[in-house]
Amino acid sequence: MSSNVGIDTLITPPAMLGIVGGGQLGRYFVMAAHTMGYGTTVLEPDPHAPAGKVADVHIIAAYDDPSALDQLASTCAVVTTEFENAPAAAMEYLAAHTTVRPSPVALATCQDRIAEKQFLTDIGVAVAPYAVIITDADLAAASTCGYPAILKTARLGYDGKGQVNVATHRDLATAWQSLGGAPCVLEERLPLDRELSMVLARTADGRVACYPVAQNEHVDGILDISFVPATLPGTGHGEAAKLCRYIAEELGFVGVLAVEMFVVGSDVLVNELAPRPHNSGHYTLDACLCSQFEQQVRAICGLALGDAKLVVPGVAMANLLGDLWANGEPKWERALWQQAAHLHLYGKREPRPGRKMGHLTTTSATVVGATTLARRLRSQLTAD
Ligand code: ADP
Ligand code: MG
Repeated sequence: MSSNVGIDTLITPPAMLGIVGGGQLGRYFVMAAHTMGYGTTVLEPDPHAPAGKVADVHIIAAYDDPSALDQLASTCAVVTTEFENAPAAAMEYLAAHTTVRPSPVALATCQDRIAEKQFLTDIGVAVAPYAVIITDADLAAASTCGYPAILKTARLGYDGKGQVNVATHRDLATAWQSLGGAPCVLEERLPLDRELSMVLARTADGRVACYPVAQNEHVDGILDISFVPATLPGTGHGEAAKLCRYIAEELGFVGVLAVEMFVVGSDVLVNELAPRPHNSGHYTLDACLCSQFEQQVRAICGLALGDAKLVVPGVAMANLLGDLWANGEPKWERALWQQAAHLHLYGKREPRPGRKMGHLTTTSATVVGATTLARRLRSQLTAD
């Protein structure tokens, strides 16, 4: 491939980049875009949302507001989303008037667990054993599923929300009612040995860059700690990259894609896809030459993809949830005096329990050292 393939189709500064959704992921995207000289417009109904405060233009309107969509389409060279539940019809409307990356079809697949698992199964990628629950007949048919299981709403779930445990088949109907009888997948609860994720970027002309695999630990369904490099056999990273690249190609994906994986014994199962940068990829902000957000700008604008390699031997990321504010402002100085720690706060006003308010990244000569430091510093933030 010659180095200037596609050079005429690059989207270059000072073009306006549009983004649907104004959370912390959008905020980092906006900051990366501004560093490179692009303009940014954020569509987000919450006037206090983290990305809205830093964007050039904050359209405070519903995600499907027609005049907001017209403004985005007429002013932005490309529109993306950090909010995976952006209404499909809105993204299709935008795509009819400007470039939308990833495509509405790819977004729709990642937005719906039923479509996502069907897609993965169709392309031969292993997923946890599951059944689709849409009707009462599906409830009865699910008697042969493996229990205990987890019932997950097909749409709109995140951070473990929209999920209930189902101990036996007798508990299924009540569990389904508790989720409002919405379309769901019922998944066997697996004895996970490890949870992994890979963030990758892909351009419209098929170039791909994969970040190192992260290993993730969740508490109550919310990502707690993520560390890199993950504990993998020698060939593990290359195999994960091959799998994730294949998924992105089959999806025709353009932008940044995160693939969450379960390791059970010698099996690697794909849990879910996020059509955007990922919480477990935040380590790239402090430990890679090109962060996942700069990479997102590069991918959707058709630029050369940045170097995705890790520049430290070990890195860990600890999420900072609203719970840390229970007794007032955490003692930030305890993290800030450490050279190896990088504090990120998203500028959210209300520290509700379970809400992602920021994260702490730690680097070290070993991944174990980085992980231990991240845990220790986070607990010191609220210690007496
Ligand atoms: P979310 O959209 O909330 O991230 P996930 O499907 O990724 O939803 O589930 C959140 C977490 O719950 C997972 O990262 C994992 O820790 C746990 N989990 C989900 N499905 C299973 C399963 N089938 N078996 C065991 N643990 C699971
Ligand atoms: Mg998940």
